[in-house]
Amino acid sequence: MRTGGQTTVIKRVLERRAQQPSAIQEDTTATIAVMLRVLPPPRALLAISDAGIRADFERRIPADMLDVEANGDEDEALVSLVTEFRSVIVTDSLELIRRIRSQQGGRAPYIVYVPPLDEPRERESGLTAGADDCVGRRVSDRELRARIGGARRIAELENVLRIALVENRKLSTTDDLTRVASRRFFSKHFPREVERAARYGRPLSLILCDIDYFKNANDTLGHAGGDEILKHFGTRLQECLRRGVDWVARIGGEEFAMVLPETGYEQALDVARKLRAAVANRAFKVHGRDIDVTASFGLCGLDRVPVGERKLAEQLLKVADAALYRSKNAGRNRVTATMLPVRSR
Ligand code: GH3
Ligand code: MG
Ligand code: MG
Repeated sequence: MRTGGQTTVIKRVLERRAQQPSAIQEDTTATIAVMLRVLPPPRALLAISDAGIRADFERRIPADMLDVEANGDEDEALVSLVTEFRSVIVTDSLELIRRIRSQQGGRAPYIVYVPPLDEPRERESGLTAGADDCVGRRVSDRELRARIGGARRIAELENVLRIALVENRKLSTTDDLTRVASRRFFSKHFPREVERAARYGRPLSLILCDIDYFKNANDTLGHAGGDEILKHFGTRLQECLRRGVDWVARIGGEEFAMVLPETGYEQALDVARKLRAAVANRAFKVHGRDIDVTASFGLCGLDRVPVGERKLAEQLLKVADAALYRSKNAGRNRVTATMLPVRSR
């Protein structure tokens, strides 16, 4: 009875969703449509040994559907595929199909087999060798267009999916403007750093910083000028840190966090002082002008991260933020450091 009840609820939710397509769904559809529209026609290889049929197919496949390159030599075709991936392959060679399909790890092209005779057994051999579709040599123009259209659609969708996945990965972990880690990355990975340090009883420090009077910079230089400062600012912070160990995230408009694993309080204080000086002592170039920038810093350091402390990452962040606030109140362009008061156990 209980499962029946749940099933009914799920059914109802699905029905309701089907009735009113969500805004996200519409957005996604529109995005895919734009991506498909701006992509050039997929690259294709026409590997047909018979010169007459090769020329005939080359002539009949419209250039706005596939960007075709023809090659009658099977070995040459295979070599050319190694150097450059083609999304669609049209071939009369079962051997070539098998060789392409036996290659491990690479992207899989859409393969159209052109059998010597347009008969069921021939088509079956093509499909079992690894082809996705078969067309006869005397295929009509309309059927060829339809089949090539299908091949193109699959090739394009694969392309769009790859682009979207790469973009998505970049977007979610990196801040677009400054190229340092994103706020999302920080929220996810800072607690992990804290847990790791706690597990091994290692030191860990967090430095927060906020650019001073950044509103003024925006007012005098314009928003694009402000963006330019932010871009250089991220780079400058990174230059002062240990590559591959420490990391920077942009956690607010002009607020950054630096995570220093394996770094205790005193050492982190040195780093924060170095960072402050690196910002204040060298002007930032914005549209050919030298702009002086300062930032305020707040630090929270632990020489040994304790085990079993609840919401430690949150506590560290809170303490570092309070320290930053004190730097602001004390006149800005300075460092305030705090050791986290940890319960003795
Ligand atoms: P304080 O010294 O107290 O930090 O002063 P402030 O002016 O830096 O601080 P406030 O928080 O008042 O202003 C921050 C400004 O940062 C406001 C906002 O317009 C600007 N800002 C936030 N994000 C961006 C961004 O991505 N680009 C640019 N150009 N400006 C940004
Ligand atoms: Mg500020
Ligand atoms: Mg701020």
